[in-house]
Amino acid sequence: MTQSDIEVFFTSSDELTKQLYNNKNYVEVDFHVLSYYNEDYALKLVERPRYILAELHSYAKGKQVRIKNLITPTNIHEISTNLLYKLIQVRGVVTQISAVMPRASSITYVCESCGEPVTVDQNYQWKKEPDKCLACKKGGKFRLDLSTSTFDDTQWITIQELVENTPAGKTPDAFKVFLKNDLVGQTTPGEEVTIIGVPIVQEKASNTSKLDMVWHIEANNVIYQGENQPILKLTPQDVEQVRQLMSQPDHLDNVIKSYAPTIYGLEHVKEALAYQQCEGVPKISDKNMKRGQFHILLAGPMGTGKSELGKYSARYHVKGREATGRGASGVGITASVVQEDGEWVLKAGAMVLADNGLLFIDEIEKMSKTDSGAIHPAMEQQEIPISKAGINAMLKTRCSVLAACNPLTGEWNEYKNLVGNLHDGKRGIPLPLLDRFALKFVVKLPSDIAEERKVAEHIARVNTHPEQIQPPYDVDTLRKIFSYARTLQPIIPDKLAEEMTDFYLRLFKASTLQNIQIISRRQIEDLFRLTEASAKLNGRETATDVDMKRAVAIVSKSLNECYFDMDTGMVDQTKALYGEPKSKRDCIKETPALIQRLCKRNTDITKVSRDKFIEYASKTWRCAKHEAGEALEVCLKDGSVFCPTPYTVATTITTLDEAPP
Ligand SMILES: [Zn+2]
Repeated sequence: MTQSDIEVFFTSSDELTKQLYNNKNYVEVDFHVLSYYNEDYALKLVERPRYILAELHSYAKGKQVRIKNLITPTNIHEISTNLLYKLIQVRGVVTQISAVMPRASSITYVCESCGEPVTVDQNYQWKKEPDKCLACKKGGKFRLDLSTSTFDDTQWITIQELVENTPAGKTPDAFKVFLKNDLVGQTTPGEEVTIIGVPIVQEKASNTSKLDMVWHIEANNVIYQGENQPILKLTPQDVEQVRQLMSQPDHLDNVIKSYAPTIYGLEHVKEALAYQQCEGVPKISDKNMKRGQFHILLAGPMGTGKSELGKYSARYHVKGREATGRGASGVGITASVVQEDGEWVLKAGAMVLADNGLLFIDEIEKMSKTDSGAIHPAMEQQEIPISKAGINAMLKTRCSVLAACNPLTGEWNEYKNLVGNLHDGKRGIPLPLLDRFALKFVVKLPSDIAEERKVAEHIARVNTHPEQIQPPYDVDTLRKIFSYARTLQPIIPDKLAEEMTDFYLRLFKASTLQNIQIISRRQIEDLFRLTEASAKLNGRETATDVDMKRAVAIVSKSLNECYFDMDTGMVDQTKALYGEPKSKRDCIKETPALIQRLCKRNTDITKVSRDKFIEYASKTWRCAKHEAGEALEVCLKDGSVFCPTPYTVATTITTLDEAPP
């Protein structure tokens, strides 16, 4: 284009003219509009972007020129050297951001011989110094004058290819992007962005003589996708097909039969997993947002199909992801701020990348310390606040978590319930974390031979005649059903809500009568979510009695597996979580030994203060202080304990072994 052509171009539409005179420092040019105006010039822009952008810039009233809507976008895994220095458009999810750093775009040097300033343009990478002074022609010494140098705000981000654009079976590729000035500080990890920019190569900073090159994209424009709800694009025919399936009386059975069909049995677990795909209805009131998603934990010995169930679940969700507690991939579950090549970088973990999706975490018990600290707010409030090393961000983690967990000892103990197998009072998966899971199930091999034969036959069939395992719905159909279900917002009628509250109160009352805790308030919310999810799975606008009953049945089943007490046949969460309180008789028996232990720790080993004993005993026995006091009174009476002074106690028995902890 000639100069006048370019001038005319900027006045060719109201939109462009407006941009020339608004208060922003850039003009955004739609590539389609440019190609319509002059196709050759648009092609030149793609081939020689730096030159053409500079040319456009000189006619845009000194404003930056940004491009949007390139005709052929590139997938990240397709970037190769033949695209170097050309204009490309890529889409991805932001996985890392660095702190915002000032970098000199030009540095002013002052000649030490004559005092004249020399300005040298910089490329951000290596410091460029003047060869010689332009005034006195000497190549002598120069000093920096930063006050008259110019700087840009700069930031590195890393974008990862969207799962849907990644070839099957490949891990998504990632690419570094360099941002400057008003493009910086705008992105948060987990967000989806479109980058228009130029891939360039640079020499890697190193001391060796090897020529190591690294490449990145210099961004010209960043377009934010905004709130992205990953909904499978359903055609009207799809919706009709899904609605038709949902109206069938055996729809729920079909879903359960089709869910992870290579895994035998576990119908109640599969039903719960199907509800998790549908989610409850999120509720927004004022500033408060109540999540609709809920979390499920699968516990059991190794090799029983927990991981397979998880992988199936991730496949059935449009935005399903997998992660492992071991973090073998180097990516954590929540987020971390680490130093990389001398810069602070915020790395988004799997939960952030699964925002609005479903995350399967295998071997959650192996999670790092950083993750186990941050995972509670990530699961409950569904965000992770980050404020470290100049990086401030609020990362969204609105995903359903499905986690698999192995028993503490590696072996599954049949005489213990779920919680007892995962935690022994000190070690194991943290108890407050367990509480974040709405449902917890045991996935284990059947204990009787008849059942075992069915499993074995099923496995044999999967391996020899996979065609015989014909689930009613294939993977695609399930994905469509769940995607459609998630768009529904069924309501729970008042009468049903009352009944559910009654159910909760009945359990609550039973628990207070027996001084044990069966159900917590978190669980009533989960009961509502499950009821809504059941309504959604069946395409109902209003939840019914049936939905509530299914929800209650699932919750009861999970409570039983977690907390069932082999002795009393009762479900007791407190006991399961914190262990059995000592019986009074045991307390009395152990009192002298406890006193002896405390005395040994004292400087005066002959006695210990009465208060200290009561404090220590009540903690050790998990009982009330007055109960510890009562045990002490009994021992004082029978003479195994005495009072050397009014406020201390001592024991007559000295040959006792250490009391059990
Ligand atoms: Zn000079």
